[in-house]
Amino acid sequence: MTLRQTMTKFCQEHLAPKAQQIDQENEFKGMRASISCDFWKKLGELGVLGITAPAEYGGSALGYLDHVLVMEEISRASASVGLSYGAHSNLCINQLVRNGNEAQKHKYLPKVYYFVLNGNKFWITNGPDADVLIVYAKTDMNAVPASRGITAFIVERGMSGFRTAQKLDKLGMRGSNTCELIFEDCKVPGVYVLMSGLDLERLVLSGGPLGLMQAVLDHAIPYLHVREAFGQKIGHFQLMQGKMADMYTRLMACRQYVYNVAKACDQGHFNAKDCAGVILYSAECATQVALDGIQCLGGNGYINDYPMGRFLRDAKLYEIGAGTSEVRRLIIGRAFNATFK
Ligand SMILES: Cc1cc2nc3c(=O)[nH]c(=O)nc-3n(C[C@H](O)[C@H](O)[C@H](O)COP(=O)(O)OP(=O)(O)OC[C@H]3O[C@@H](n4cnc5c(N)ncnc54)[C@H](O)[C@@H]3O)c2cc1C
Repeated sequence: MTLRQTMTKFCQEHLAPKAQQIDQENEFKGMRASISCDFWKKLGELGVLGITAPAEYGGSALGYLDHVLVMEEISRASASVGLSYGAHSNLCINQLVRNGNEAQKHKYLPKVYYFVLNGNKFWITNGPDADVLIVYAKTDMNAVPASRGITAFIVERGMSGFRTAQKLDKLGMRGSNTCELIFEDCKVPGVYVLMSGLDLERLVLSGGPLGLMQAVLDHAIPYLHVREAFGQKIGHFQLMQGKMADMYTRLMACRQYVYNVAKACDQGHFNAKDCAGVILYSAECATQVALDGIQCLGGNGYINDYPMGRFLRDAKLYEIGAGTSEVRRLIIGRAFNATFK
């Protein structure tokens, strides 16, 4: 079996049947205990955690295209668990610093060989559940440009000066737990490491909208061929055929764009413009495809007995989390401008 087939089978059998319940209860039961821990362990056995890490570090030494495929198939079964996977497999990469105000709160004490983290960061995926976090914090206030001078730290739950606030009650992606991280004189030992993984985070997360669009098609197309109105299947009405065509071509265009950028990264060609481009375009398409899916189901699209509403709520997050659509447009525009300096 290919990686795609293995993941489809595993996720459709073990995760998809639980997706509605995860959404309703806003909990992937036992995220840090027995049930879903088994799920994460099974993903580990399948070799899809740390998927791009070299084998000598316990990874699978696979590529970014493989990572995207896994993200897509988990998200197709449950977008919220897919989001947690996207963050989990990145060791819960979280940014403490995104803007100047927060950056001012951090101090660096070089003589004692540890850093003292002060500040907070709202909106952290897996924050309530993660035992180990990678925290990006500003350590050089004079760095030019200001986006430089950031250091990555490994922080463990239970460390003095580190705590998490209450779990947030979100519109969608329910069951993928989000909370605020709070650092109050948190001493973090370790070496100075610089990391730049945001482009690849955007690329891998693009598998989420792809999986969501596929999930909409998985539910909408059969529905259009079961439900009848005026004596015929509604999928035979030309305007509904148009909806099928629009949903399908949006998904396929996004898939080709995401896969091609992933293949380029696998060959060592990293490009911030296209990593922003794939998540920008696939996220906005996923929201549109979910809206079309609701329309295909008519009234049934608007009640929670059917999953279309969940797909829409989940899809919308991808226009906000890991950077907003506005910021992604800004990155792409700036990349063009940079070539005309
Ligand atoms: C469910 C969820 C999970 C998340 N998980 C994580 C995580 O794990 N790690 C992490 O680091 N972050 C995470 N985030 C944070 C996410 O990246 C931020 O919400 C996002 O960057 C927007 O920041 P903000 O919420 O402060 O909105 P604001 O910065 O207040 O933005 C509000 C609006 O203004 C626009 N805007 C802001 N600045 C500009 C500008 N310069 N130009 C044009 N428009 C602008 C924005 O695009 C947006 O539309 C998560 C968010 C959510 C909702």
